[in-house]
Amino acid sequence: MATYTLEGRTGTWEIVVGLEIHAQVISESKLFSGASATYGGAPNDHVSFVDAGFPGMLPVINAECVAQAVRTGLGLKAQINLESRFDRKNYFYADLPNGYQISQFQMPIVGTGTVEIELQDGTIKHIGITRLHLEQDAGKSMHDQHPAKSVIDLNRAGVALMEIVSEPDIRSPEEAGAYLRKIRQIVRYLGTCDGNMEEGSMRADVNVSVRKAGEPFRTRCEIKNVNSVRFVMHAIEAEAIRQIEVWEQGGEVVQETRLYDPSKGETRSMRSKEDAHDYRYFPEPDLLPLIIEQSWVDELKAKLPELPDEKRARFCAEYGIPFYDAGVLVADQTTADFYETVAKGRDGKLAANWITGDFFAALNRTGASIETSPVSAAALGQLLDLIADKTINGRIAKDVFEEMVETGAMPAEIVEKKGLRQVTDTGAIDEAVTKVLADNQDKVAEYKSGKDKLFGFFVGQVMKAMQGKGNPALVNEAVKKQLG
Ligand code: ADP
Ligand code: MG
Repeated sequence: MATYTLEGRTGTWEIVVGLEIHAQVISESKLFSGASATYGGAPNDHVSFVDAGFPGMLPVINAECVAQAVRTGLGLKAQINLESRFDRKNYFYADLPNGYQISQFQMPIVGTGTVEIELQDGTIKHIGITRLHLEQDAGKSMHDQHPAKSVIDLNRAGVALMEIVSEPDIRSPEEAGAYLRKIRQIVRYLGTCDGNMEEGSMRADVNVSVRKAGEPFRTRCEIKNVNSVRFVMHAIEAEAIRQIEVWEQGGEVVQETRLYDPSKGETRSMRSKEDAHDYRYFPEPDLLPLIIEQSWVDELKAKLPELPDEKRARFCAEYGIPFYDAGVLVADQTTADFYETVAKGRDGKLAANWITGDFFAALNRTGASIETSPVSAAALGQLLDLIADKTINGRIAKDVFEEMVETGAMPAEIVEKKGLRQVTDTGAIDEAVTKVLADNQDKVAEYKSGKDKLFGFFVGQVMKAMQGKGNPALVNEAVKKQLG
């Protein structure tokens, strides 16, 4: 693996990155109230007295959110803590009616784990997970709805978030991108977060520092709330370059919170550690410690879906396809299921080739997704069957496939309607070969005087005369025989 470095005036620099990912939990209701956790709705439609911070309202833990956190922890191959606690993180902001956020500070529900990432050059690397904890989201302040006032929408207030903290194991923008995509893939497989960064249901705080090779870590800066994989990668590079300049000019990087501005491609200071918040964390007095049973964890584990790494390995072993192809096919659950429906009981390699080749190309061209594709897994499977039982040849199969994309018809229907069955009648093939050779006597003479290359020409002409429907092996044989 090539190490990613940046050249400065004083030498070569390495970057060090750790990510804190906020992932919104998929659940019907909020972390501590029965209000709906669905995205959207009219402002303040999904707000209970608990979410609005009314006096005397008490939080009640939502077991499904806890289960989602445990599932995610298991997906990250992490330690599940049977006892965890909630704390109050105090700060004042208009979208936080209680004046504090309930979060897990000292004792998170999930401890250390590990995530495998794959880089462009095929290298596999493991990124450590420090912890995953549960916390509430805040509401939303809007400053563009009224000329003189800010308004607050508390629909999001109290929705469950998982904060997934990585070790500072990431060493390049590429690794950060691969890590983020992998986390997104895992939570989507698990059904614990929809991973939609554009809608804000997954966002990352990016910690960046730089150092000379072999040095201990230097001071980091934290870039808040970056909301796309691409921006995370750009922000890391921009921030690393800024820090290198600071160090090389004899200055010192100060630990601070920064914001990334995608339009300028730079980070700027938001608040320094000196005026950083003192959150006055203390144990949440309204909630008991969260105690879960190992048997319940085991139950959740037994019901986990097969995860992308395991599925990829199984696809390679079971269907004999290359590791790379398997990676493409397990990118998401829908693609993996589609592949498996087509491949089951058939030639797995041929299925993989058709899906990653013609099928994906057709989706690209038509802007369809697997769900809206006119070609179903059953239809593509039938096409492979028609090739396997030699009803059609590979060449005609391409035409049949295009027709399937256009009309959504089943391949067997298309073959019958258009009379595309492969011709295996050797009499008909011989007849076509005789005619082609008779029409091209000059070329036959050239062939006989040693121009071997012309063999392909004759086969092509025969196929053309038979509208592509000749059985390729039989045509080859017949041409060879008649040329003597
Ligand atoms: P805090 O509690 O102040 O947020 P943490 O120790 O929890 O600090 O670290 C937060 C994140 O910063 C983690 O993802 C961690 O991997 C990352 N991190 C820690 N030290 C460094 C460093 N020197 N350079 C880059 N990232 C770092
Ligand atoms: Mg932090």
